Amino acid sequence: MKPILQNLADMTTHRDHVRLEVSVLSTLQKLSSVNDVRALEIFNDAGVPSLRPRTWLANGKFVSTRSQASTDPRREPLAHYPALNDCIANHCDSAMASLRRGSYTLWLPVWMQDKVATCLEITRSRPFSAHSLDVVKGIFQVYKNYQSLLEYSERDALTGLLNRKTFDEQFSQLNAPQLPGDSGLTPLCSTLPDEDESEPLQQWLALVDIDNFKQINDRFGHLFGDEVLILIANLLRKSFRSEDQIFRFGGEEFVVLLRSATLPTARKVLERFRGAVQDHTFPQVGHITVSIGFVGADKGAPVEVLGLADQALYYAKEHGRNQVHYYDDLVAQGLLQAKVAHDDVELF
Ligand code: GH3
Ligand code: MG
Ligand code: MG
Repeated sequence: MKPILQNLADMTTHRDHVRLEVSVLSTLQKLSSVNDVRALEIFNDAGVPSLRPRTWLANGKFVSTRSQASTDPRREPLAHYPALNDCIANHCDSAMASLRRGSYTLWLPVWMQDKVATCLEITRSRPFSAHSLDVVKGIFQVYKNYQSLLEYSERDALTGLLNRKTFDEQFSQLNAPQLPGDSGLTPLCSTLPDEDESEPLQQWLALVDIDNFKQINDRFGHLFGDEVLILIANLLRKSFRSEDQIFRFGGEEFVVLLRSATLPTARKVLERFRGAVQDHTFPQVGHITVSIGFVGADKGAPVEVLGLADQALYYAKEHGRNQVHYYDDLVAQGLLQAKVAHDDVELF
């Protein structure tokens, strides 16, 4: 067994949230009398505070699920765990309960500002002594500090959205083999309530670009331009599900990765976002619009997928802006020439 300090050092070598989570759990699991450790996801399920296991031990190995929290049949209302429920309602740092005879559970919610999305759960065969609590909380503090550093380096300072560097790292992993410790569990229940089950679920990449943004800067100044970027980021966060990922890709360009959605859903949510921008009144600036191009995220290497979405976006720009276009539709209608991958790379 590696000494705890060595485990802590290992923990801070990870640049990936799943690996970091597995690493902290494996450190905690090695403490004496610890029987079980899990990372729980805390989320709202149609207004009901809920949890579900995200990383846990199975046959001595850690597994993680990437399925959607809101459709995972293992999700439970937080109210099933009164001690944890009270702790989260009162913004406490930890909760304890004995759920069975000879089993003592400690929960450690990971607070980020005033929100909690993750909670570590440690179960021991003996009550937590003051000393064992100190050790667990010390490890947890290192994990939390490192987690927030990681989070900070992944985000864009102006909008708080994920940054380009994170996009490059995550998107290249999208079609890559599973992570070690990732069970690759397929979603246990894989359709959203409003989805047509005959349509396949897949990932979509959408490129969003603000129309005539340069004019906004020129007419109102850079500060108002910056405010528009922040407000667009807020509209993006409101318009998509928590499973979807939103990146600020460049100056006034954004990328949305839609997770497990059918084509009709992808069209609908992107169109809804376009409409939300059109209807929004921006202080001083008034009304603005966005153009969007999207494509299946499995269409090739990241740079090729981006190239195809960019062609659909370019088509929208050339044909009046304030539109959403699906690359495959444009090709099927003869409005765009399907390019070989090599050209796309050069184009982008
Ligand atoms: P189009 O509809 O074709 O997309 O036109 P556009 O004016 O939006 O596009 P263009 O690429 O010509 O201009 C983008 C502008 O975005 C130019 C640049 O000064 C501005 N910009 C880039 N980053 C920022 C930023 O962080 N803040 C502000 N205020 N402006 C930015
Ligand atoms: Mg633009
Ligand atoms: Mg642009």
